[in-house]
Amino acid sequence: MKKNKFPLTGISSVAIHTSEDNAEFSHITPIYATSTFTFDNAQQGMERFAGEDKGNIYSRWGNPTFKAAEETIAALEGFNIKDENGNPLQLRAILHSSGQAAMATLFLSNVKAGETILTHYSLYGGTQEILQKVLADAGINIIIADLRDLNVLEDAIKKNNIKLIHLETPANPTIHCVDIEVITKIAKQHDIIVSVDNTFATPYLQQPFKYGVDFVFHSTTKFLNGHGTAIGGVLIGKDISLMKTKVWKWHALLGGNSNPFDAFLLINGMKTLELRMDKHCSNAMQVANFLQNHSAVANVNYTGLKNHPDFFVAAKQMKHPGALMSFELKGGIEAGKKFIDHLQMCVRAVSLGTVDTLLSHPASMSHFGIKREERLKFGITDGLIRLSVGIENIEDILNDFEQALTGL
Ligand SMILES: *Cc1c(COP(=O)(O)O)cnc(C)c1O
Repeated sequence: MKKNKFPLTGISSVAIHTSEDNAEFSHITPIYATSTFTFDNAQQGMERFAGEDKGNIYSRWGNPTFKAAEETIAALEGFNIKDENGNPLQLRAILHSSGQAAMATLFLSNVKAGETILTHYSLYGGTQEILQKVLADAGINIIIADLRDLNVLEDAIKKNNIKLIHLETPANPTIHCVDIEVITKIAKQHDIIVSVDNTFATPYLQQPFKYGVDFVFHSTTKFLNGHGTAIGGVLIGKDISLMKTKVWKWHALLGGNSNPFDAFLLINGMKTLELRMDKHCSNAMQVANFLQNHSAVANVNYTGLKNHPDFFVAAKQMKHPGALMSFELKGGIEAGKKFIDHLQMCVRAVSLGTVDTLLSHPASMSHFGIKREERLKFGITDGLIRLSVGIENIEDILNDFEQALTGL
């Protein structure tokens, strides 16, 4: 990492200037497309394996392009946070091939058979499935509860031997938020590990390490990459020695390493994180206001609106309310399909966090295979539209919505 002469004051500077050092004076971080790395002699090979020589060995274990992305993400998540001794908080990030791979490392390196993970409703689908299918099959107990209610949290901790609490805030599709600070405080009284999925917020809007959490997780596929060009994930931890030993070991053995091209795309995407997030969020606020006042719309779930049940929690822990929202059309499933079909500029797709506005209709798409009663329990009603607001010019987003909502 380049040694800065003075402390940087903003996250754009951090995102742009953390990863600019390399042997050949290349301005932009090179794509180190190599599976392995050479040793000058047997002695150097031995020192590298012993960790005395910092050089690389094999790309499943680490690669200079991954490292540049990892150092940038660690710098962003730890930006302006102090540790218990008043020093800048040190973090370690490990880049993965996908969010799901980073999640596998997170859970498997911290929880073993017979132990329990506590989490909440409305998780990302892949998270819910890895917990309830993969980890449950591996003998790990999973409890899903409404952690917005602290009595429920205290009760779950009292009745079970909880090893790890996993939070995702804000969460799909109703944009529910949980209070990271309060939950972490309670968890720490019981020596429970806390991890946070910060994918929707990004470190620009929310820094969970401020509240003493142990791990932060991202699907870098979303806002960190920002342009929809690669799948990726990252796991960031504050126990550096644990990150270097067990967590790194599990990651390397499970084999969910990134690749140099995707890491390169991520490094360059992150340089505009602050600019993009500001625009995503200001557009989202205007879209939410427009939808809330539209006669075809029954209600809007957006934490920037005062009527959202988690408005105050979001305002407390997030710089802006984010770019994700959902809304309910009065005309139910037919109106939902028609609205989606009428869109001319905005894009019909799952995923989120790209520069373009993406919309999906869960009842006819991602949750089509799930029984109606089941999806209704998670707030996925017939006319619900999920929306990731992009950075297009706001007039065009609103014009597209206006014409697609006409005649529903
Ligand atoms: C996309 C996503 C994931 C999974 O990440 P992949 O990169 O698709 O493997 C996990 N959590 C959240 C909140 C997500 O949006």
